[in-house]
Amino acid sequence: MQTTDPGQASPATLHPDADGESKKRRTEGAVAPVTQHRGALSEEELKIELKVYYDRLFPTSFLFHWLSSMSPVDGLKYREMSFTLPGDIYVRYCSYVTKEALKNDLVSKLPIKIDIGAVYNAPPNMHASIANFAPVHKELVFDIDMTDYDDIRTCCSGAAVCDKCWVLMSAAIRVVHTILTKDFGFEHVLWIFSGRRGIHCWVCDSRARKLGHDAREAIINFLSCYQGKEKKINVSMNQYGHMHPSMQRAYEQLLPYFEDLLESQGWMDTPEACDKILEFIDPSLRDEFRPSNDDDAGLQKWFELKNRVKSFLFRQKKFTAATNSVRSCLQRIVFYHAYPRLDVNVSKHLNHLLKSPFCVHPKTGKVCVPIDPKEADGFDCNAVPHILQLHDELNAFRSTDGSSKATWSSTSLKPSIELFRQFVTKLMNAARVENPRSYAKHIAAKAQQDVATNEW
Ligand SMILES: [Zn+2]
Repeated sequence: MQTTDPGQASPATLHPDADGESKKRRTEGAVAPVTQHRGALSEEELKIELKVYYDRLFPTSFLFHWLSSMSPVDGLKYREMSFTLPGDIYVRYCSYVTKEALKNDLVSKLPIKIDIGAVYNAPPNMHASIANFAPVHKELVFDIDMTDYDDIRTCCSGAAVCDKCWVLMSAAIRVVHTILTKDFGFEHVLWIFSGRRGIHCWVCDSRARKLGHDAREAIINFLSCYQGKEKKINVSMNQYGHMHPSMQRAYEQLLPYFEDLLESQGWMDTPEACDKILEFIDPSLRDEFRPSNDDDAGLQKWFELKNRVKSFLFRQKKFTAATNSVRSCLQRIVFYHAYPRLDVNVSKHLNHLLKSPFCVHPKTGKVCVPIDPKEADGFDCNAVPHILQLHDELNAFRSTDGSSKATWSSTSLKPSIELFRQFVTKLMNAARVENPRSYAKHIAAKAQQDVATNEW
């Protein structure tokens, strides 16, 4: 175990400022109406709340079986877990043979953040004494942060997020999930709200976990067409003006999100905004594509641009560099504004840590809940359960029911944990079929039973 400064020790980030406001609340089953809770908690408040949270609500068992599904006999003996403790003390290289040991540490240490690292070739707490200590496998992960879109967001900036810009995250889930499942054939793809302004993706198929650095780099390169600022978008077309089928599908998926955003963000509302859009066309041809009426709504100007591009391309007999810029301009405009902007380094490196699902974001009080990719468009980041709200729901349940055993299933965390449980169950079933020898029968049965049980 090692204690270091969080800034030095981990690529995982603690975000410095708070924005969180919980406007709407979900209520489930026997859950009583609760008071509205907003924003950050003091360190003392957080400590008190986390004690209840880790003891009664955090799905330790499901998390343990999720992370050990490839080798349930070892548990998390070789898996690095790291904690950020109150006072910004960063503890790396923790590992656990049993879920009880993990739970004991959570309840006694009350981490304000849990990060998950790779599975190593030796127990992580022995890292200092083992010469060839190295990561062996880890889920393929992706990190998408709203601040990477600050050059195009007009509604918010920095840590702030609203319904309008959250559409960028819905679009990212749609596109990345389709590429991962359709093009790469992955089946176990878990999406998690990062607690404030972004999303994480965990690809948990065993072949994804075993990917080396180069393969991870190749996948992230395949997925990345946004190349940083300066409007560089990697959209290649063949001589007939066709894109790679995966990119063509992404374009078709993104178009409705882009048009929604174009309206809400005002990307073509003013002549100055239209000039920025026209930068995607060669300067010698831009005047041909200026809107005919500056007073038109942005969306109308966009439809006009699309029609003009179509008729311009119809008239071309031979393509030059300038006319080629028109041929791909619609795709580059859409991809620049709406294509997922991935944090490449998080995905590439096997030893990179990523925040655990179901952490409570210390600045917003919100739980990092899973997002169902099929329902991603309806996900409301403002309606995510807040730790104070959950505590109230536990109390409310006890007072109406007379039971002292209220747990997550009595709170608005229930749909999120059910979603996670379904994911873990499916993953465990696949791992058992794929690798029956590493699945000692009694351990597999015990793990299956744990995941089938609501309370422990
Ligand atoms: Zn916004």
